Amino acid sequence: MQDEHQKHGLPVVNPATEELITTVAAATPGDVDAAVRRAARAQRTWAALAPGERARLLRRFAVVVDEHLEELAGLEVQEAGHPIGNARGEAGNARDLLDYAAGGVERLNGSQIPVDGGINVTFAEPLGVVAVIAPWNFPMPIAAWGTAPALAAGNAVVLKPAETTPLTAMRLAELGLEAGLPEGLFQVLPGEGPVAGTALVEHPGVAKVVFTGSTAVGKDIMARCAASVKRVTLELGGKSPNIVFADADLAAAATAAPGSFLDNTGQDCCSRSRILVQREVYDRFLELLEPAVKAFTAGDPADPATSMGPLISQRQRERVRGFVSEDAPALIRGEVPSGKGFWYPATVLEGTSGDRLSAEEIFGPVAVAIPFEDEADAVRIANDSDYGLSGSIWTRDVGRALRVSRAVAAGNLSVNSHSSVRYSTPFGGYKQSGLGRELGPDALTAFTETKNVFISTEEQP
Ligand code: NAD
Repeated sequence: MQDEHQKHGLPVVNPATEELITTVAAATPGDVDAAVRRAARAQRTWAALAPGERARLLRRFAVVVDEHLEELAGLEVQEAGHPIGNARGEAGNARDLLDYAAGGVERLNGSQIPVDGGINVTFAEPLGVVAVIAPWNFPMPIAAWGTAPALAAGNAVVLKPAETTPLTAMRLAELGLEAGLPEGLFQVLPGEGPVAGTALVEHPGVAKVVFTGSTAVGKDIMARCAASVKRVTLELGGKSPNIVFADADLAAAATAAPGSFLDNTGQDCCSRSRILVQREVYDRFLELLEPAVKAFTAGDPADPATSMGPLISQRQRERVRGFVSEDAPALIRGEVPSGKGFWYPATVLEGTSGDRLSAEEIFGPVAVAIPFEDEADAVRIANDSDYGLSGSIWTRDVGRALRVSRAVAAGNLSVNSHSSVRYSTPFGGYKQSGLGRELGPDALTAFTETKNVFISTEEQP
């Protein structure tokens, strides 16, 4: 492949201080081509290993990640501005994903199906080379969500991290080699979406693309995958509801609500950024919510007492400001440090279902509060969205909790909690929030083709 792109560097900036951490080389289409070819060779070696050996190497990878947990968490604090407690959890998530996927290698069963005249078996075959295109909001967990099950199912992975957050993924690839993974099996190529990302999506040697990011880019990738019927999993945006019924434990709901839209500074596809409250308790709930929001302190991400860091970049702050400026009238507004850093305060606004603030993903620490009349009205407003990723339901009525869980068109719901994503349960979106599922017991299957083989038992003449 001809390489017309000049080599250049991607600046990696600490979002809490605006200081340049380092510059990493951006991959060109030529680099992508070479990486995919290397990956294809490594994949053949990997798939030929005994399943128990592949499982052992992935478990070893998990152990090496665990040994470097503090270092990985420190990198996440620096390049993504995540509070240290969250960053430790994210490094632990990458470790757990590898461990969990390793357990699947020797359980990737086919089936035996009764047929006439012989036996029929199915095999779960690896796809080949998988491209993982990761975003900047949870750089380490999302890198691992695609990579761990893909490797466990016998594939090679070429991962392109987001431009702003390449460091944890680059380190994970080094740790994979240290753990004994074959050279070329798991490669990380930092680069720009329209250059390295496009080259990966369009490369004929890539069998599947796993993309997490904006809905606009996801749609474009899906269209380009169609050209060669490339497999694709998409994890896209969200505008998830937090539905608080009048019969709920209001104090518990109000205490939990800030974490559901302020965690990761709202840069979370599962953010419960639409707070729907039954009208008769609307004012009371907002009274309880205000001190809880103000207690969600923004500050130095390296300080264990910090709940909320800065936004990822100046560009993202401008994007959030494009929805609402820091001095626009608000129901509730928190405080942020002054001076350097891409800070943006926690903000709760009055919303109306369907207006821009209530319909579009802001991806910042901003939520709208919307009153509703009854159960039917709550479900109608919750489903009044192009998205369908997550949601929470607060009520003491078990029947209602189940009815509303079934009626809300979203892939991940929690009752009387804002359950976060677990590696052992399936995750993915309805409607324009995505396509396919990641994580959970079936995660490896998404990285296989089912091959059906019939063996005749008829006597040969
Ligand atoms: P993005 O979708 O542009 O980037 C996500 C990843 O895709 C990055 O690795 C990027 O380099 C890559 N990419 C970009 N263009 C590409 C292309 N043409 N081909 C292949 N890969 C490409 O997201 P962004 O611009 O960083 O953020 C914009 C908005 O997207 C955010 O404000 C937020 O609303 C949304 N977002 C959502 C998620 C999520 O988890 N659902 C994550 C990140 C961003």
